[in-house]
Amino acid sequence: MTATTSNHTAVLQAQDRAHVFHPSTHMRQHAAGEMPNRIIRGGKGIHIEDTEGKRTLDAFAGLYCVNVGYGRTEIADAIHEQASQLAYYHTYVGHGNEPVIKLSERIIAKAPAGMSRVYYGMSGSDANETQIKLVWYYNNVLGRPEKKKIISRWRGYHGSGIMTGSLTGLELFHNAFDLPRAPILHTLAPHYYWGGEAGESEAEFSKRCAAELEKMILAEGPETVAAFIGEPVLGTGGIVPPPEGYWDEIQKVLARHDVLLIADEVVTAFGRTGAYFGSDKYGISPDLITIAKGVTSAYLPLSGVIVGDKVWRVLEQGSDKLGPIGHGWTYSAHPVCAAAANANLDIVDGENLTGNAAEVGAYLQSRLHETFDDHPMVGQVRGVGLLAALEFVADRGAKRRFDPNLKVGPQVSAACLAGGMIARAMPQGDILGFAPPLIITKAEVDQVVEITAKAVDQVADQLAGQLA
Ligand code: PMP
Repeated sequence: MTATTSNHTAVLQAQDRAHVFHPSTHMRQHAAGEMPNRIIRGGKGIHIEDTEGKRTLDAFAGLYCVNVGYGRTEIADAIHEQASQLAYYHTYVGHGNEPVIKLSERIIAKAPAGMSRVYYGMSGSDANETQIKLVWYYNNVLGRPEKKKIISRWRGYHGSGIMTGSLTGLELFHNAFDLPRAPILHTLAPHYYWGGEAGESEAEFSKRCAAELEKMILAEGPETVAAFIGEPVLGTGGIVPPPEGYWDEIQKVLARHDVLLIADEVVTAFGRTGAYFGSDKYGISPDLITIAKGVTSAYLPLSGVIVGDKVWRVLEQGSDKLGPIGHGWTYSAHPVCAAAANANLDIVDGENLTGNAAEVGAYLQSRLHETFDDHPMVGQVRGVGLLAALEFVADRGAKRRFDPNLKVGPQVSAACLAGGMIARAMPQGDILGFAPPLIITKAEVDQVVEITAKAVDQVADQLAGQLA
């Protein structure tokens, strides 16, 4: 709170601090008013606005989810219309509703080849919880009760439930929660910049990642390993596109040992990488796909598990042996959320936002490279489509990180905010992430790059002052 904060905002902030438990927030600092406590009241296009009337360019689309931008009345109207017509009826024991039928048909039509059905939830986390259960059920139906282990990657992000928090490969999400739980295992992060060895090419690093995975499968016993889960592009773990050849190599190993592949496309689906699905972009043929975020652009919560033919056929047999599947959420296939998704995907398709992500995304990547490739504080510029990151290092040649206590990533993010733009300080190092709404224009990308350049220089100057 500043001296100029209006009374209205100050009252809201006091109430917020007294009653709201915020996710991913330092609880005591928030309650004590020791950290920013911005109250957001509106949004239009790529900007959000707070209760002080301050507009900010949101270059992270919320949490990489508001893909069609803020204030789309087409979606608001569709929500109103569906809620007036039928706000809710469950989809248990074969009940259907029109928006969900339409949505499922269009998702399957656009999904990678061989996809069959969509199971709906409310969040990426619950969808990945469903993935784990389906994989276990699948192997139980096949009479392989011991084939249950799931391998994910360090730096992967798959949710923050008990099992999905276990899949997540970030210690912050494990520590103090007694995670990860068995039977979840973690293998190498596909991060060449930090993981590649001296003299090792990117393609060789990918081969090593696959070899390590195979070693783990063989050590555990292939008869005990059910699935591998990965994001086509690492997201929360640092926005890292896969190293050259990575997915080909990984898929060969999985095929050899009859291990299912789950593509977690919560961030990458619906255009973000410049392809409709990240799997298409990287030649991934998943058995199961997780979607959330971009399916509704977060106008309402909706997630899904897209089940491929191979798994579906076994699940179907399961019903004959075991009866109706014992897995369901009250809000599975919620008609109002599905109506929001249809209106959102009408915009994604009608405005060719996948094409925009490819074209304006390429522009974003090239502007970031030209501006930061030679910056003494930037170790790596990386990204694909409208997903990008800068990684800050103390010494580029020696690839030495900054002292974490300097909080360089958060400092740059704060300087961007002061300049009128949100870019996210990612949790796994000094990383500044960009994932703007897919409607962003080249002129707006110029603004993003300009604000970022000023912020980076400002922090570099401050650090030089501190270290001098
Ligand atoms: N998977 C991925 C790849 C994600 O990025 C996220 C959220 N950032 C999730 C799963 C979890 O989604 P949610 O926060 O909706 O539970």
